[in-house]
Amino acid sequence: MSFEDLKLHPSILPNIAALGYESPTPIQMQAIPVAIKGRDLLGIAKTGSGKTASFVIPILNQLLSNPLGERNRKPEALVLVPTRELALQVADVFKALSQNLPQPIQSLVVYGGVSINPQMKAMYGVNILIATPGRLLDLQRSNAIDLSEVKTLVLDEADKMLNLGFKKEMQEIFDLLPKKRQNLLFSATLSEQLSGLNNVLLTDPVVLEIDSPAETEELINLSGYFVSDDRKGPLLRHLIKSQKMKQVLVFTSSGNKADKVAWKLYKNGIDASSIHGKKSQSARTQALKDFKSGKVKVLVATDLISRGIDINELPYVINYELPRSPKDFVHRVGRTGRAKTEGLAITFVTREETHHFKVILKKMKRYMDMVDSETLEF
Ligand code: AMP
Repeated sequence: MSFEDLKLHPSILPNIAALGYESPTPIQMQAIPVAIKGRDLLGIAKTGSGKTASFVIPILNQLLSNPLGERNRKPEALVLVPTRELALQVADVFKALSQNLPQPIQSLVVYGGVSINPQMKAMYGVNILIATPGRLLDLQRSNAIDLSEVKTLVLDEADKMLNLGFKKEMQEIFDLLPKKRQNLLFSATLSEQLSGLNNVLLTDPVVLEIDSPAETEELINLSGYFVSDDRKGPLLRHLIKSQKMKQVLVFTSSGNKADKVAWKLYKNGIDASSIHGKKSQSARTQALKDFKSGKVKVLVATDLISRGIDINELPYVINYELPRSPKDFVHRVGRTGRAKTEGLAITFVTREETHHFKVILKKMKRYMDMVDSETLEF
């Protein structure tokens, strides 16, 4: 199947080609026609499977097919995401696919941690708003935005958006939206909250569960090391040096730890920086930018960026510390092995964590060869 077969507005096709997309991915093949028809959709597909374009393309198509009225702070499409980094990434895809359209379509990204005034000013004429929930509510409370004409709502990383952490904010946002609207929910991991809440949120949805292990999951090679806490730092440095890793994303379970690990690497002559929720937004944006461009070799991160963040052909992920939830493990290792490129995810496990680790592997339905780091010299 080609993108031409999806019967899209012809002006979008050159933009898709310019992104290098030759044919739709499985989720795109199935989700785009459903979303174009205006149906509600729950799309469950692995990380890196092309979910973003699955909602960006139908939204643009919809806006092009219906003449746009005067937009005065009343967006027609609202995309909610859990992190600022993901918001920027989704906004980039909207921008790339909105080039040279017969009528200009304006998208705007808003998130917290930066000044609100420019966002308020930029709200005029916006068709598509990409937002994190807290800042969206701030803008609404300042009367900078009117959500009463939203026709399509997208929840990216839907399970995260609907879990307890966002519950209050999301309820407030739902109350501001028109009851009659299209809801598009996407997630790589389906949780109990999601199955409960989709009854409230979705109307007669099409549920797409794309299981394509051959396409994505198999591209992520997994390996693991049993290692004590005090040997993790030396093992990390040993792996980076001996395997000549040029770009590696390391996950820790707290911001403090991320800073410590990055600092230790830096002191040992390895370019590293850290990213987590306690850093300023400008420091977060800079750290991710430097890492993506290859300026910094190692980025030590918390689960803040385990969701949805796309780093082109990232070859290595290292779990310096295990996440508590198997779902976070799936998202972390899913930063590599994306878009048809292989990757290696290495996990450090202490002996005390053996049981927890087995639970994670069982949930993932994967097996992992483990190396005892005591047998290694470094
Ligand atoms: P996503 O799951 O939306 O984050 O996309 C994962 C990666 O796949 C991104 O790097 C996209 O640019 C890329 N991608 C998305 N759709 C396609 C496609 N149809 N063909 C090739 N690459 C794609």
